[in-house]
Amino acid sequence: MLEKLSPLPPDPILGTTVACRNDPNPDKVDLGVGVYKDAGGNTPVFEAVVEAEARILAAQTTKAYVSPPGDSRFIEGVTRILFGEDHPVLADGRVGAVQAPGGSGALRVLAGVLLRAQADTELWVSTPTWGNHIPLLGAAGLDMQQYPYYDRGAHALSFDAMVEALKQRGPGEVVLLHGCCHNPSGADLTREQWDVVGDLAEERGFTPFIDFAYHGLGEGLDDDAYGVRMLARRVPELIVAYSASKNFGLYRERTGLAITVDATAEQAATATSQMANIARELYSMPPAHGASIVGEILADVELTASWTGEVTAMRDRLNGLRALLSRSLAETTGTDEFDYIAGERGLFSFLGLSPEQVQRLQSERSVYLIPSSRINVAGITEANVGYVAESIASVL
Ligand code: PMP
Repeated sequence: MLEKLSPLPPDPILGTTVACRNDPNPDKVDLGVGVYKDAGGNTPVFEAVVEAEARILAAQTTKAYVSPPGDSRFIEGVTRILFGEDHPVLADGRVGAVQAPGGSGALRVLAGVLLRAQADTELWVSTPTWGNHIPLLGAAGLDMQQYPYYDRGAHALSFDAMVEALKQRGPGEVVLLHGCCHNPSGADLTREQWDVVGDLAEERGFTPFIDFAYHGLGEGLDDDAYGVRMLARRVPELIVAYSASKNFGLYRERTGLAITVDATAEQAATATSQMANIARELYSMPPAHGASIVGEILADVELTASWTGEVTAMRDRLNGLRALLSRSLAETTGTDEFDYIAGERGLFSFLGLSPEQVQRLQSERSVYLIPSSRINVAGITEANVGYVAESIASVL
Protein backbone atom coordinates (compact mmCIF):
# COMPACT_ATOMS: atom_id res chain seq x y z
CA MET A 1 0.00 0.00 0.00
CA LEU A 2 2.83 2.43 0.67
CA GLU A 3 3.74 2.33 -3.03
CA LYS A 4 0.70 4.57 -3.60
CA LEU A 5 2.58 7.47 -2.01
CA SER A 6 4.42 9.93 -4.24
CA PRO A 7 7.66 11.55 -3.11
CA LEU A 8 7.65 15.17 -2.02
CA PRO A 9 10.24 17.80 -2.99
CA PRO A 10 12.58 18.87 -0.18
CA ASP A 11 11.56 21.88 1.92
CA PRO A 12 12.71 24.99 -0.03
CA ILE A 13 14.35 26.56 3.05
CA LEU A 14 16.34 23.41 3.80
CA GLY A 15 17.19 23.17 0.09
CA THR A 16 18.79 26.62 0.30
CA THR A 17 20.86 25.52 3.30
CA VAL A 18 22.10 22.41 1.49
CA ALA A 19 22.96 24.39 -1.66
CA CYS A 20 24.94 26.86 0.45
CA ARG A 21 26.75 24.08 2.32
CA ASN A 22 27.84 22.54 -0.99
CA ASP A 23 29.03 25.86 -2.47
CA PRO A 24 32.89 25.99 -2.45
CA ASN A 25 32.97 29.84 -2.66
CA PRO A 26 34.78 31.03 0.53
CA ASP A 27 32.71 34.27 0.46
CA LYS A 28 29.35 32.47 0.53
CA VAL A 29 26.70 33.76 2.95
CA ASP A 30 23.66 31.83 4.22
CA LEU A 31 20.73 34.16 4.96
CA GLY A 32 18.17 31.36 4.63
CA VAL A 33 17.30 29.09 7.54
CA GLY A 34 15.64 30.65 10.59
CA VAL A 35 17.96 30.01 13.49
CA TYR A 36 20.03 32.55 15.42
CA LYS A 37 23.73 32.58 14.59
CA ASP A 38 26.57 34.34 16.37
CA ALA A 39 29.44 36.25 14.73
CA GLY A 40 31.21 32.91 14.12
CA GLY A 41 28.17 31.50 12.30
CA ASN A 42 27.35 29.13 15.17
CA THR A 43 24.03 28.60 16.94
CA PRO A 44 25.49 28.40 20.44
CA VAL A 45 24.25 26.61 23.55
CA PHE A 46 23.52 29.30 26.16
CA GLU A 47 25.86 29.25 29.17
CA ALA A 48 22.83 29.28 31.47
CA VAL A 49 21.60 26.17 29.64
CA VAL A 50 24.95 24.36 30.05
CA GLU A 51 24.91 25.09 33.78
CA ALA A 52 21.26 24.09 34.20
CA GLU A 53 21.87 20.84 32.30
CA ALA A 54 24.82 19.98 34.56
CA ARG A 55 22.67 20.51 37.65
CA ILE A 56 19.81 18.45 36.20
CA LEU A 57 22.08 15.54 35.27
CA ALA A 58 23.70 15.55 38.72
CA ALA A 59 20.31 15.44 40.47
CA GLN A 60 18.50 13.11 38.06
CA THR A 61 17.14 9.90 39.55
CA THR A 62 14.63 8.68 36.98
CA LYS A 63 13.49 8.75 33.38
CA ALA A 64 9.89 7.91 34.28
CA TYR A 65 7.25 9.96 32.43
CA VAL A 66 6.63 13.56 33.40
CA SER A 67 2.99 14.29 34.24
CA PRO A 68 0.56 14.95 31.34
CA PRO A 69 0.40 18.76 31.85
CA GLY A 70 4.21 18.79 31.99
CA ASP A 71 6.97 20.18 34.18
CA SER A 72 5.40 22.43 36.82
CA ARG A 73 8.53 24.60 37.29
CA PHE A 74 8.63 25.20 33.54
CA ILE A 75 4.96 26.17 33.46
CA GLU A 76 5.33 28.43 36.50
CA GLY A 77 8.51 30.07 35.15
CA VAL A 78 7.29 30.67 31.60
CA THR A 79 3.89 32.05 32.64
CA ARG A 80 5.70 34.41 35.07
CA ILE A 81 8.08 35.84 32.46
CA LEU A 82 5.27 35.97 29.93
CA PHE A 83 2.61 37.79 31.95
CA GLY A 84 4.94 39.46 34.46
CA GLU A 85 5.11 38.86 38.21
CA ASP A 86 1.87 40.56 39.32
CA HIS A 87 -0.49 40.04 36.42
CA PRO A 88 -4.11 39.62 37.54
CA VAL A 89 -4.68 36.53 35.37
CA LEU A 90 -1.99 34.70 37.36
CA ALA A 91 -3.25 35.97 40.71
CA ASP A 92 -6.78 34.90 39.76
CA GLY A 93 -5.73 31.44 38.56
CA ARG A 94 -7.22 32.12 35.12
CA VAL A 95 -4.33 30.54 33.19
CA GLY A 96 -4.51 27.03 31.75
CA ALA A 97 -1.25 25.55 30.46
CA VAL A 98 0.20 22.34 29.09
CA GLN A 99 3.81 21.71 28.11
CA ALA A 100 4.18 20.86 24.41
CA PRO A 101 6.90 19.78 21.97
CA GLY A 102 8.05 23.23 20.83
CA GLY A 103 5.96 26.19 19.78
CA SER A 104 4.73 24.00 16.91
CA GLY A 105 3.41 21.39 19.34
CA ALA A 106 1.76 24.16 21.38
CA LEU A 107 0.07 25.51 18.23
CA ARG A 108 -1.20 22.01 17.42
CA VAL A 109 -2.58 21.37 20.92
CA LEU A 110 -4.28 24.78 20.95
CA ALA A 111 -5.81 24.13 17.53
CA GLY A 112 -7.27 20.96 19.05
CA VAL A 113 -8.76 22.80 21.99
CA LEU A 114 -10.34 25.46 19.73
CA LEU A 115 -11.89 22.71 17.62
CA ARG A 116 -13.24 20.88 20.66
CA ALA A 117 -14.80 24.14 21.86
CA GLN A 118 -16.31 24.81 18.43
CA ALA A 119 -16.00 22.42 15.50
CA ASP A 120 -16.09 25.07 12.74
CA THR A 121 -13.65 27.57 14.26
CA GLU A 122 -12.25 30.13 11.80
CA LEU A 123 -8.65 31.14 12.45
CA TRP A 124 -7.48 34.38 10.84
CA VAL A 125 -3.75 34.67 10.15
CA SER A 126 -1.72 37.60 8.83
CA THR A 127 -0.65 37.87 5.19
CA PRO A 128 2.16 36.98 5.13
CA THR A 129 2.68 34.67 8.09
CA TRP A 130 5.13 31.97 9.20
CA GLY A 131 5.27 29.37 6.42
CA ASN A 132 4.07 26.56 8.68
CA HIS A 133 1.04 28.29 10.24
CA ILE A 134 -1.40 27.39 7.49
CA PRO A 135 -0.13 23.79 6.94
CA LEU A 136 0.06 23.02 10.66
CA LEU A 137 -3.13 24.68 11.88
CA GLY A 138 -5.08 23.91 8.73
CA ALA A 139 -4.13 20.21 8.91
CA ALA A 140 -5.41 20.20 12.50
CA GLY A 141 -8.82 21.10 11.07
CA LEU A 142 -9.17 24.85 11.64
CA ASP A 143 -10.84 26.89 8.90
CA MET A 144 -7.89 29.08 7.87
CA GLN A 145 -8.57 32.67 6.75
CA GLN A 146 -6.21 35.57 6.12
CA TYR A 147 -6.13 39.26 6.98
CA PRO A 148 -3.79 41.84 5.39
CA TYR A 149 -0.75 42.71 7.50
CA TYR A 150 2.34 43.76 5.57
CA ASP A 151 2.78 45.73 2.35
CA ARG A 152 5.92 44.34 0.69
CA GLY A 153 6.17 47.24 -1.75
CA ALA A 154 5.95 49.91 0.94
CA HIS A 155 7.98 47.86 3.48
CA ALA A 156 5.41 48.76 6.11
CA LEU A 157 2.44 47.38 7.99
CA SER A 158 -0.92 47.56 6.20
CA PHE A 159 -2.42 48.55 9.51
CA ASP A 160 -5.54 50.27 8.18
CA ALA A 161 -6.42 47.23 6.07
CA MET A 162 -5.74 44.96 9.05
CA VAL A 163 -8.10 47.04 11.21
CA GLU A 164 -10.80 46.91 8.53
CA ALA A 165 -10.49 43.11 8.44
CA LEU A 166 -10.59 42.79 12.23
CA LYS A 167 -13.71 44.99 12.38
CA GLN A 168 -15.48 42.22 10.48
CA ARG A 169 -14.55 39.53 13.03
CA GLY A 170 -16.82 38.54 15.90
CA PRO A 171 -17.43 36.07 18.75
CA GLY A 172 -16.33 32.53 17.96
CA GLU A 173 -13.67 33.75 15.51
CA VAL A 174 -9.99 33.61 16.39
CA VAL A 175 -7.28 36.04 15.24
CA LEU A 176 -3.66 34.92 15.28
CA LEU A 177 -1.10 37.64 16.07
CA HIS A 178 2.68 37.37 16.35
CA GLY A 179 3.71 38.45 19.87
CA CYS A 180 6.84 40.16 18.52
CA CYS A 181 9.46 39.74 15.76
CA HIS A 182 6.85 38.97 13.10
CA ASN A 183 7.96 36.04 10.94
CA PRO A 184 8.61 36.63 8.03
CA SER A 185 8.32 40.44 7.83
CA GLY A 186 10.08 41.69 10.99
CA ALA A 187 7.36 44.37 11.20
CA ASP A 188 5.71 44.54 14.62
CA LEU A 189 2.72 46.43 15.94
CA THR A 190 3.54 49.53 17.99
CA ARG A 191 2.01 49.81 21.47
CA GLU A 192 -0.62 52.17 20.06
CA GLN A 193 -1.47 49.64 17.37
CA TRP A 194 -1.67 46.82 19.92
CA ASP A 195 -4.10 49.01 21.90
CA VAL A 196 -6.26 49.38 18.78
CA VAL A 197 -6.28 45.57 18.43
CA GLY A 198 -7.29 45.41 22.11
CA ASP A 199 -10.16 47.86 21.46
CA LEU A 200 -11.32 45.77 18.49
CA ALA A 201 -11.11 42.49 20.42
CA GLU A 202 -13.20 44.03 23.21
CA GLU A 203 -15.74 45.63 20.89
CA ARG A 204 -16.06 42.78 18.42
CA GLY A 205 -15.63 39.84 20.79
CA PHE A 206 -13.18 37.77 18.72
CA THR A 207 -10.54 35.70 20.53
CA PRO A 208 -6.89 36.76 20.13
CA PHE A 209 -4.36 33.94 19.69
CA ILE A 210 -0.74 34.98 20.12
CA ASP A 211 2.11 33.00 18.66
CA PHE A 212 5.06 33.96 20.84
CA ALA A 213 8.22 32.41 19.39
CA TYR A 214 10.75 35.25 19.84
CA HIS A 215 10.20 36.53 23.39
CA GLY A 216 13.11 38.85 24.25
CA LEU A 217 14.56 39.11 20.75
CA GLY A 218 12.69 42.28 19.75
CA GLU A 219 12.85 45.12 22.30
CA GLY A 220 13.22 43.25 25.60
CA LEU A 221 11.49 40.61 27.71
CA ASP A 222 8.94 43.04 29.15
CA ASP A 223 8.46 45.23 26.06
CA ASP A 224 7.95 42.24 23.77
CA ALA A 225 5.19 40.94 26.04
CA TYR A 226 3.23 44.22 25.90
CA GLY A 227 0.53 42.86 23.58
CA VAL A 228 0.00 39.63 25.53
CA ARG A 229 -0.14 41.38 28.89
CA MET A 230 -2.44 44.15 27.66
CA LEU A 231 -4.85 41.73 25.98
CA ALA A 232 -4.87 39.42 29.01
CA ARG A 233 -6.02 42.41 31.10
CA ARG A 234 -8.73 43.41 28.68
CA VAL A 235 -10.35 40.36 27.13
CA PRO A 236 -11.96 37.39 28.89
CA GLU A 237 -10.18 34.78 26.76
CA LEU A 238 -6.78 34.66 25.12
CA ILE A 239 -4.69 31.88 23.59
CA VAL A 240 -0.86 31.84 23.57
CA ALA A 241 1.58 29.39 21.95
CA TYR A 242 4.99 29.91 23.58
CA SER A 243 8.25 28.62 22.13
CA ALA A 244 11.57 28.42 24.00
CA SER A 245 13.41 27.38 20.82
CA LYS A 246 14.93 30.78 20.03
CA ASN A 247 15.10 32.64 23.33
CA PHE A 248 16.66 29.70 25.20
CA GLY A 249 18.41 28.30 22.12
CA LEU A 250 16.67 24.95 22.76
CA TYR A 251 15.47 24.28 19.19
CA ARG A 252 16.04 20.51 19.10
CA GLU A 253 14.82 19.95 22.64
CA ARG A 254 11.27 20.78 21.51
CA THR A 255 10.30 23.08 24.35
CA GLY A 256 6.99 24.91 24.21
CA LEU A 257 3.92 25.78 26.22
CA ALA A 258 0.25 25.84 25.18
CA ILE A 259 -1.55 28.51 27.21
CA THR A 260 -5.15 29.64 27.59
CA VAL A 261 -6.33 32.64 29.57
CA ASP A 262 -9.88 31.80 30.55
CA ALA A 263 -12.83 33.75 31.94
CA THR A 264 -12.67 31.94 35.30
CA ALA A 265 -10.24 29.74 37.25
CA GLU A 266 -12.67 26.85 36.82
CA GLN A 267 -12.60 27.24 33.04
CA ALA A 268 -8.80 27.41 33.11
CA ALA A 269 -8.71 24.04 34.89
CA THR A 270 -11.13 22.66 32.29
CA ALA A 271 -8.97 23.98 29.42
CA THR A 272 -5.87 22.39 30.99
CA SER A 273 -7.62 19.04 31.28
CA GLN A 274 -8.73 19.25 27.64
CA MET A 275 -5.25 20.22 26.42
CA ALA A 276 -3.63 17.37 28.37
CA ASN A 277 -6.15 15.01 26.79
CA ILE A 278 -5.42 16.32 23.28
CA ALA A 279 -1.69 15.86 23.92
CA ARG A 280 -2.48 12.30 25.05
CA GLU A 281 -4.15 11.62 21.69
CA LEU A 282 -1.26 13.14 19.74
CA TYR A 283 1.94 12.06 21.50
CA SER A 284 0.89 10.95 24.98
CA MET A 285 3.47 12.71 27.16
CA PRO A 286 5.68 15.78 26.78
CA PRO A 287 9.48 15.49 26.47
CA ALA A 288 11.35 16.27 29.70
CA HIS A 289 14.74 17.72 28.95
CA GLY A 290 14.16 21.20 27.47
CA ALA A 291 11.40 22.07 29.91
CA SER A 292 13.48 20.96 32.89
CA ILE A 293 16.30 23.24 31.68
CA VAL A 294 14.00 26.26 31.36
CA GLY A 295 12.38 25.40 34.71
CA GLU A 296 15.81 25.17 36.38
CA ILE A 297 16.93 28.52 34.92
CA LEU A 298 13.78 30.41 35.79
CA ALA A 299 13.66 29.02 39.34
CA ASP A 300 17.18 30.29 40.07
CA VAL A 301 18.01 33.99 40.41
CA GLU A 302 21.62 33.67 39.19
CA LEU A 303 20.79 31.47 36.22
CA THR A 304 17.93 33.78 35.30
CA ALA A 305 20.31 36.76 35.37
CA SER A 306 22.82 34.88 33.22
CA TRP A 307 20.12 33.87 30.71
CA THR A 308 18.68 37.41 30.58
CA GLY A 309 22.17 38.72 29.80
CA GLU A 310 22.54 36.24 26.97
CA VAL A 311 19.13 37.13 25.50
CA THR A 312 20.08 40.80 25.71
CA ALA A 313 23.36 40.18 23.89
CA MET A 314 21.53 38.24 21.19
CA ARG A 315 18.95 41.00 20.74
CA ASP A 316 21.59 43.76 20.72
CA ARG A 317 23.56 41.86 18.10
CA LEU A 318 20.51 41.44 15.86
CA ASN A 319 19.47 45.07 16.16
CA GLY A 320 23.08 46.21 15.62
CA LEU A 321 23.30 44.09 12.46
CA ARG A 322 20.06 45.60 11.20
CA ALA A 323 21.48 49.11 11.59
CA LEU A 324 24.75 48.02 9.98
CA LEU A 325 23.06 46.38 6.99
CA SER A 326 20.78 49.33 6.29
CA ARG A 327 23.77 51.74 6.51
CA SER A 328 25.83 49.53 4.16
CA LEU A 329 22.92 49.30 1.72
CA ALA A 330 22.51 53.08 1.79
CA GLU A 331 26.17 53.31 0.75
CA THR A 332 26.10 50.66 -1.97
CA THR A 333 22.75 51.68 -3.47
CA GLY A 334 22.97 55.43 -2.86
CA THR A 335 19.34 55.37 -1.65
CA ASP A 336 17.43 55.18 1.63
CA GLU A 337 15.33 52.35 0.22
CA PHE A 338 16.57 49.83 2.81
CA ASP A 339 16.37 52.05 5.90
CA TYR A 340 13.29 50.13 7.05
CA ILE A 341 15.49 47.11 7.91
CA ALA A 342 16.92 48.97 10.91
CA GLY A 343 13.45 49.52 12.37
CA GLU A 344 12.19 45.96 11.97
CA ARG A 345 12.77 43.36 14.67
CA GLY A 346 13.74 39.74 15.18
CA LEU A 347 15.48 37.40 12.79
CA PHE A 348 13.73 38.31 9.55
CA SER A 349 13.08 41.05 7.00
CA PHE A 350 12.08 41.04 3.35
CA LEU A 351 14.49 42.60 0.87
CA GLY A 352 11.68 43.04 -1.66
CA LEU A 353 13.60 41.24 -4.46
CA SER A 354 12.05 39.12 -7.18
CA PRO A 355 12.71 35.33 -7.26
CA GLU A 356 14.98 36.01 -10.28
CA GLN A 357 17.06 38.52 -8.30
CA VAL A 358 17.26 36.03 -5.42
CA GLN A 359 18.47 33.40 -7.89
CA ARG A 360 21.12 35.78 -9.26
CA LEU A 361 22.35 36.54 -5.72
CA GLN A 362 22.82 32.80 -5.29
CA SER A 363 24.41 31.98 -8.65
CA GLU A 364 26.53 35.12 -9.15
CA ARG A 365 27.43 36.02 -5.56
CA SER A 366 26.88 32.87 -3.43
CA VAL A 367 24.49 34.82 -1.20
CA TYR A 368 21.67 32.44 -0.26
CA LEU A 369 18.14 33.47 0.64
CA ILE A 370 14.72 31.96 0.17
CA PRO A 371 12.72 32.90 -2.98
CA SER A 372 10.43 35.33 -1.11
CA SER A 373 13.64 37.37 -0.41
CA ARG A 374 13.21 36.93 3.34
CA ILE A 375 16.63 37.23 4.96
CA ASN A 376 17.79 35.92 8.31
CA VAL A 377 19.60 38.96 9.70
CA ALA A 378 21.68 36.71 11.99
CA GLY A 379 23.51 35.36 8.92
CA ILE A 380 25.19 38.75 8.53
CA THR A 381 28.46 39.57 10.29
CA GLU A 382 30.63 42.66 10.51
CA ALA A 383 33.01 40.84 8.19
CA ASN A 384 30.50 39.96 5.45
CA VAL A 385 28.07 42.90 5.59
CA GLY A 386 29.97 44.87 2.93
CA TYR A 387 29.95 41.91 0.56
CA VAL A 388 26.24 41.27 1.19
CA ALA A 389 25.35 44.93 0.56
CA GLU A 390 27.41 45.07 -2.65
CA SER A 391 25.82 41.82 -3.80
CA ILE A 392 22.30 43.10 -3.22
CA ALA A 393 23.11 46.35 -5.03
CA SER A 394 24.50 44.33 -7.94
CA VAL A 395 21.15 42.64 -8.64
CA LEU A 396 18.93 45.72 -8.26
N1 PMP B 1 5.94 30.28 15.37
C1 PMP B 1 6.77 31.04 14.66
C2 PMP B 1 6.32 32.38 14.20
C3 PMP B 1 8.05 30.57 14.34
O1 PMP B 1 8.86 31.34 13.62
C4 PMP B 1 8.43 29.29 14.79
C5 PMP B 1 9.79 28.73 14.51
N2 PMP B 1 10.36 29.02 13.32
C6 PMP B 1 7.52 28.55 15.53
C7 PMP B 1 6.29 29.07 15.81
C8 PMP B 1 7.81 27.15 16.01
O2 PMP B 1 8.86 27.02 16.82
P1 PMP B 1 9.32 25.62 17.44
O3 PMP B 1 10.62 25.31 16.80
O4 PMP B 1 9.43 25.91 18.90
O5 PMP B 1 8.29 24.61 17.14
